[in-house]
Formats: sequence, structure tokens, C-alpha cells
Amino acid sequence: MPSEREQLNLVLIPLLSPGHIIPMIDMAKVLAGHGVTATIITTVKNAGRFNAGIDRVAASGLPIRLLQVPFPCEKVGLPRGCESLDNLPSYDLVRNFFDAIDMLQQPVEKMIEELIKPSPCCIICDKYIAWTAQTARRFRIPWISFDGMSCFTQLCIHNLQMTRIYEGISEGQPFVVPNMPDKIEFTRAQLPGVFNPGSSMADLKGIRERVEAAQVEAYGVVVNSFEEMEQRYVHEFRKVKGGKVWCIGPLSMSNKENLHKIQRGSEAGSFDEDLCLKWLDSRQPGSVIYACLGSLGRLALQQFTELALGLEESNHPFILVVKEEKKEDTERWIAEDGFEERTKGRGLLITGWAPQVLILSHPAIGGFLTHCGWNSTLEAVSAGVPMITWPLFAEQFFNERLVVQILDIGASVGAKAVRHLGEEEKSGVSVTRHEIQKAISKVMDGGIDGKERRKRAKQVGEMAKMAVEEGGSSDLNIELLIQDIMQLA
Ligand code: UDP
Repeated sequence: MPSEREQLNLVLIPLLSPGHIIPMIDMAKVLAGHGVTATIITTVKNAGRFNAGIDRVAASGLPIRLLQVPFPCEKVGLPRGCESLDNLPSYDLVRNFFDAIDMLQQPVEKMIEELIKPSPCCIICDKYIAWTAQTARRFRIPWISFDGMSCFTQLCIHNLQMTRIYEGISEGQPFVVPNMPDKIEFTRAQLPGVFNPGSSMADLKGIRERVEAAQVEAYGVVVNSFEEMEQRYVHEFRKVKGGKVWCIGPLSMSNKENLHKIQRGSEAGSFDEDLCLKWLDSRQPGSVIYACLGSLGRLALQQFTELALGLEESNHPFILVVKEEKKEDTERWIAEDGFEERTKGRGLLITGWAPQVLILSHPAIGGFLTHCGWNSTLEAVSAGVPMITWPLFAEQFFNERLVVQILDIGASVGAKAVRHLGEEEKSGVSVTRHEIQKAISKVMDGGIDGKERRKRAKQVGEMAKMAVEEGGSSDLNIELLIQDIMQLA
């Protein structure tokens, strides 16, 4: 007989991209750990890719499950099996991808009506799947939005939308975001697509408008962040949202064992983690740079070579992650240039999917060269690792500002403008090897600045640990969220 808590069934629907699915699966595990039922709905291929962690949690007796719907690739002209943003052969197909997501509404509603027991009491859905607001209305249950961004970023975006201060300002001219607790400056060229659409993202305008329109229906917002890290921003953002903002992160910290960290987001057997761990074990503590630009970040070959040569120039041991689609070009350059030979024993190349949380938590890691995706940023924060920041697209310049200016736990490579997904070949080389090497040496510096930065990174990491422990702020916020939903049910 399910307990009163287990009768509370929260349905979670993530956007189909690793940076959105991974934190929502972690969220489901955390919710199930608090005794409520968590039901994740995703597509067949994504279920296969991400189910390992869920099976394990379910086997331990917690009320969690993963339901699958077929993804209509062929109906919208996508190659078969292309069910995640990181598998799109070209970003010209992004519109088709969202069309396929729209076609999931009917099967998901049928599933809720006929299959999901106990009846769902709430939908927590990725902000980018706007139709789920209608679904929640149809089933008369609250719709809670999950936006994989910090309160700092969400407040920036809100204030920019309200004031439209960026309008009429030239691309490269800095301006101050109004009504923020600190003086935060950007140029228009650094703003995300919603303010600054590139050509490849232009036809997402309609999708963005629907997403914004649906937001007014949200009962509240769950945020993958923790209060201590961005207190004043959480406070201000709560005011904007009428109080219903629950910071319940860092969600990646729900993966405590090495096995859980390895399985997160990777297909079984796709990576030799023993080799990677042995390599890391053989390094001095705090000596290695880990460089990875997320699941979607791609660089043109010329820009990639600047990154590789910047790592080489830094003279530190490094791990460099190369995405599968770039493998051929990259391997050719590595062989022809002699890069591999020159960095032998000092550099480890990972092609495909790296077990990021496992790597970041290894004591040998001294710095993380990151594209500042929010999950990656928070994973570095959680591990107490300072960052070398290289924002590429979306809201990543906002995350960089939080890391470098507000928390003071990172050094920037000095990127000046977003390079929208699919437009990387157009951008050419915008960050040089010397700029990369300079930012690395700032972070790895043995002097007082470097030491202080490392100390601050460790302190924020400690705060993150405390937030997710029993009685910590994020743990309490989960309880408050559950209590709130309970009184509506
Ligand atoms: N990730 C990983 N291995 C990789 C690339 C990415 O584990 O090789 C994970 C990373 O730990 C993070 C997520 O994928 O949880 C990427 O999310 P993020 O918000 O950082 O960036 P996005 O990929 O959405 O741009």
C-alpha cells in the first residue's frame, strides 16, 4: 500500500537535451528520496541513454520511474534516432526538432489519462515545452516550470525584458542591467538569443514567444541553485515571481558514488573510466586543467586548435574533451601538427562523452575550462574547482559574470560575443591561444591571487555541500515545495 507521500505523483518532463534531461533526472531522484513518487516522461532513445541511474534508485525501493513515448522523427524530417539536441546533424533542423516535441502533447496526455497511477498531482516541466501548461490546465493540476538557469540569470533576463535597455545600443557598447543588486554590465553582442537572435536561431522566435506566454501560468519555479551562493538574487527573483521560487540544487550532488557519476548521461560501456581515473591518480593534487565545452558546444577547427595550443602553452597537465562529430577533423590535425606527440604523458584526450562530475570531483583537478553552461558551472562550484570561463552561446555570458565578478572564483578568456549554435564556422578564431593560456595561469597561479581564488572556490563548494545535506537550505526547499503541492492536492 503506497504511503500518503507516495500517493503524491509528480510528473517531470524535461526538454530533450543532456543539459536539461540530466538535472531533471537528478531532481526526480531527490524528490523520490523525499518519499514522493517521481515519474519522468521522455522519448525511447533518451530513456535508453539516461535510465541507468533511475533503475538503480528504483531498485533501492524509492518511488521513481521512467515512462517512454516514441519521438516522431520521420514525421518532421529528422533522421531516425535523432531525439536529443546534441544529436542534431545540423542546427538548421532545430525547428523540425521543436515541431516533433509539439507532437508529443497528445501521447503524453493519453499516458497521463490512462497509464499514470496514482494520478499526477503536478507537472514539473522544462520551460521550453510550453504545451505542458495546457496539459496541466486540462488535468486541473499545477504547472511548475523548471528553467535550467540561476536566479542571477533569470533576474537579469527579467530586467532586460522589462526595461529593453539594450534596444538602440550598438553591438559592442557596454550597458548596465537595471535593478540588479550589483553593477552588472554587458554588451548586446553577449546577450542570449532572445535579445540577440543569430541567423540560425531566428526561426525560433515563435517558440520563444509561446514559452514566454506560458510562463504566466506557472504556479512557481524550481531552480537548480542554492540560496547561499546567490542570496540577494534569489531574494529579488522571488519578489518578481510572487514568492514561489524553490532553489533545490546543486542537483548533481545527488550522485555520490563513483558509479553514479560515471553513469550520468553516458551509454553503458562507452567510456574507459578506469584509465581516466588511473591517469588522474598519477597527477599532483590541483595540477590538472579539465577542458570541456558541454554537450552542445562546438568549435570550428581553427578555434579548437587555439584551445589545444593554449592548453599546451600552459604547461599544465590537461584533459581535453572532443565531441564525436568533430572527431575526424580533430584527429587529423592532432596527428599532422604533432600536438599529441608534444603533449604525450601530459594531455589526455577524451572523444565523445566524458564523465564530468567524476572528473571534477577528483583531487588532481585544479581548474575547469568551461563554456559556462549552467550545469557545468554548478558542477564546478560543487566540486570547489575554480573556472577558466569561455562562454559560447545562450545565457552563458550571464553565468560567467556570476562566476568571475560576483563569486570571484574564475578568470575569463575574454570572449566578446555569443556564437550561436550552428554558427561556429562563421565566428572563426575569436579567442587566441595566448588569451587561453593567460586565463589558465591566472587560475593556476601560485601567488596570493590564485590562492585566494582557490580558497573562495572551496568555500562555495562547502556551502553547496551543506545546502543539500539534511536540514540544508535546498533540502528544506524541497520539503517546502512538497508541502505546497500537498496542500493543493
Ligand atoms: N556533460 C558530461 N560529459 C560531457 C559533456 C557534458 O557529463 O562530455 C554533462 C555535464 O556534466 C552537464 C551537462 O552534460 O551536466 C551539460 O550541461 P550544461 O548546462 O553545462 O551545458 P549544455 O550542454 O547544456 O550546453
